[in-house]
Amino acid sequence: MTALLEVEDLRVAYGKIEAVKGISFTVEAGEVVTLIGTNGAGKTTTLRTLSGLLRPVGGRVRFDGRSLHDMPAHRIVSLGLAHSPEGRHIFPRMTIEENLLLGAFLRRDAAGVQRDVDHAYALFPILGERRKQAAGTLSGGEQQMLAMGRALMSRPKLLMLDEPSMGLSPIMMQKIMATITELRSGGTTILLVEQNAQAALSLADHGHVMETGRIVLSGTGEDLLHDESVRKAYLGED
Ligand code: ATP
Repeated sequence: MTALLEVEDLRVAYGKIEAVKGISFTVEAGEVVTLIGTNGAGKTTTLRTLSGLLRPVGGRVRFDGRSLHDMPAHRIVSLGLAHSPEGRHIFPRMTIEENLLLGAFLRRDAAGVQRDVDHAYALFPILGERRKQAAGTLSGGEQQMLAMGRALMSRPKLLMLDEPSMGLSPIMMQKIMATITELRSGGTTILLVEQNAQAALSLADHGHVMETGRIVLSGTGEDLLHDESVRKAYLGED
């Protein structure tokens, strides 16, 4: 069986600076895979390249059996690859519901879209309670929920989440992580980029540690969580 996402020897550069230096990994349908690593390791660059926002200088990406080479971002979304970006990028003056509907801009099935809006409100009740309010009035954690809800509105086969716990209180972070677990139980495949290695590895099937553009260690979430070098470098242990 081929994987849902296959990344092979991917290289991405900003001018002369190579930010991703030949990484390879796969994501199987139904899995949660996490990329962890320090600031500047190349995690965000990897996600932005997979969603078509950056062009690689080398390597291959196949998603659901197709090459994503030179494919525009909106085509990649229509194939089922959705991205909830770092820093959220919600539209503050639009309402919460309008922001959610933007995630469904390629869909023509109005009834299905309404069901998915209701599903987003079931996952994140606060969004439903405040559906007619400007999204800019939400707290940081609530905006993160909105960004996740919006990404889900395209009915993705693969959901890419870039640092969903960034800047959140411990309680909000637990809520986001619980939602990721819930989505996975519902069959959503997830590629998760996280600074919080403990939280990410605890729920991931597989993880990859990135350092300065390279994958330096890979394993199951469980294995990496117990790996001595990971514990020292990322989990703050001596
Ligand atoms: P963080 O956790 O801090 O977001 P990251 O692992 O996601 O880190 P990237 O944001 O992918 O890392 O950055 C990888 C490298 O590319 C860094 O050295 C960064 O300074 C550089 N970089 C990122 N964006 C640009 C850009 N637009 N122009 C030039 N260099 C960039």
